[in-house]
Amino acid sequence: MSEFIEHSPFPDSPVMPKLMPGEATIQFSCHKGISCFNACCKNIDISLTPYDILRLKKRLNITSGDFLVKYTFPYEMDNDGMAGVKFKPVEGGSACQFMTAEGCGVYEDRPTACRYYPVALLSMRKQNEFTEREAYAMVQEDHCKGHFEPRTITINDYRKEQGVEEYDDLAAGWRQLILKKKSAGPTIGKPSQRSLQLFFVACYDLDRFREFVVSPTFNDVYILDEALKQQIANDDVALMQFAFRLLRQVLFGEVSIDTKADAVDIRLARKKEREEKLDEIAAKVGPIEFTRVDPNDKYNIKD
Ligand code: SF4
Ligand code: SF4
Repeated sequence: MSEFIEHSPFPDSPVMPKLMPGEATIQFSCHKGISCFNACCKNIDISLTPYDILRLKKRLNITSGDFLVKYTFPYEMDNDGMAGVKFKPVEGGSACQFMTAEGCGVYEDRPTACRYYPVALLSMRKQNEFTEREAYAMVQEDHCKGHFEPRTITINDYRKEQGVEEYDDLAAGWRQLILKKKSAGPTIGKPSQRSLQLFFVACYDLDRFREFVVSPTFNDVYILDEALKQQIANDDVALMQFAFRLLRQVLFGEVSIDTKADAVDIRLARKKEREEKLDEIAAKVGPIEFTRVDPNDKYNIKD
């Protein structure tokens, strides 16, 4: 490691600017009893993947909406306003809300970034390339003494040890969306506000996304077979994978979900039906007499 530090062109950055393959060997060990125990959780800057959120909200037995409000804040991943989500630290401090004196309070469900540390995953995709490449870099921070522990391990084995593989597999669809958006650049244009909102809800607020998928608005447009409907109604992982599929279709035109040819007609018919209902009600109620309300009069006493 010292060789990387000495030759780093970015002396202030903790990320070593040397890309490493999975076969590379690192020297590192983290364990209870190490002098810096918990130091990395006291000053956090942790981005979350959709699968991180899914695991944590399940562990805490709360909705994705409640999880987002209590434990996260959104940030912009690019200039077009594509949102990411980071851990919100403790009130008035910089420590993780899940840190305890014994270590991580959600260890079995800790996020991807915590599992990887001190390795950083770098996903790259060149313009017009259809597959992304993955490489790794080391993060070397002064407070972390794990780099001086006498244990060597390959990055691939470290990923296995930390249970990262499942996390990476299940967040792959989300990473592809972000990479594709970045590598496509201005060619796909700026996504509409509605697409950006859909991206946020579909990726991070799964419970709200489920409500949307079962709503008449969604089913007026998309055709899902019964088996898939059942799956996404009962299984968060299936719902999340479906969210990535839908976003590929909405953002990049990669069609994999059938749409109703008469979707527009159906929506217009519903609108007409709603308007007819309103006319019917209005005819029954008759003309409404408006009264002047004085905003300073809290009892709304009429003239
Ligand atoms: S989730 Fe756990 S490991 Fe990650 S920063 Fe919080 S306390 Fe530390
Ligand atoms: S060795 Fe590094 S990762 Fe482990 S507790 Fe210390 S600072 Fe955190």
